[in-house]
Amino acid sequence: MNEVIIATTNKGKIEDFKKLFQGTYEVKSLLDLPSFPEIIEDGQTFQENARKKAEVLAKAMGQPVIADDSGLVIDALDGRPGVFSARYAGEDKNDQANIEKVLEDLRGVSERDRTARFVCTIAFADPEKETSFFEGTCEGLIAHEQAGEHGFGYDPIFYVADKNKTMAQLSLEEKNKMSHRAKAIQKLNEYLLGASS
Ligand code: IMP
Repeated sequence: MNEVIIATTNKGKIEDFKKLFQGTYEVKSLLDLPSFPEIIEDGQTFQENARKKAEVLAKAMGQPVIADDSGLVIDALDGRPGVFSARYAGEDKNDQANIEKVLEDLRGVSERDRTARFVCTIAFADPEKETSFFEGTCEGLIAHEQAGEHGFGYDPIFYVADKNKTMAQLSLEEKNKMSHRAKAIQKLNEYLLGASS
């Protein structure tokens, strides 16, 4: 069976990709490699970061690599935190501090101007081919306060109008049906199915 490496150490992401590739690719992650080059995520866009992670590793390993980059884009903040989502309030990548900073930034901003989206870009780098990209987005509003216990990152302040709930009030199963990452993975899946037929 062909092998694909997922450029992450995040166990949740690894499980998602394993499910997707069941029976088609054997999934390995950075956790399975004895060593790998350190990659600084210094791109200006999700696509640049995903490309860098996937291509550096694909070249080093000589085999296909998938990498993703994701984050929260808030219209009233000109797209911030964007590629800085994980470390918006500081280098220690603290979810609660990030949430508080966003709520503070949006203090006094009314409902209709609190539009935002989660974005996920996946890069599929094959040493033999041009890199392909797949993007998924999930639209929402930034709530005035936190609610919900599930998920991670900005989920407790990301209000999904359709569901009348924050992302953190949805079960993981519900989130996985409509999340930016699920949509990007779906597009990658369609591409790979097409490529193998
Ligand atoms: P990365 O793509 O794993 O580097 O994630 C970047 C950051 O974006 C995370 O640390 C979170 O702050 C935020 N983020 C990405 N996806 C989600 C999500 O599904 N829910 C909440 N926050 C997210």
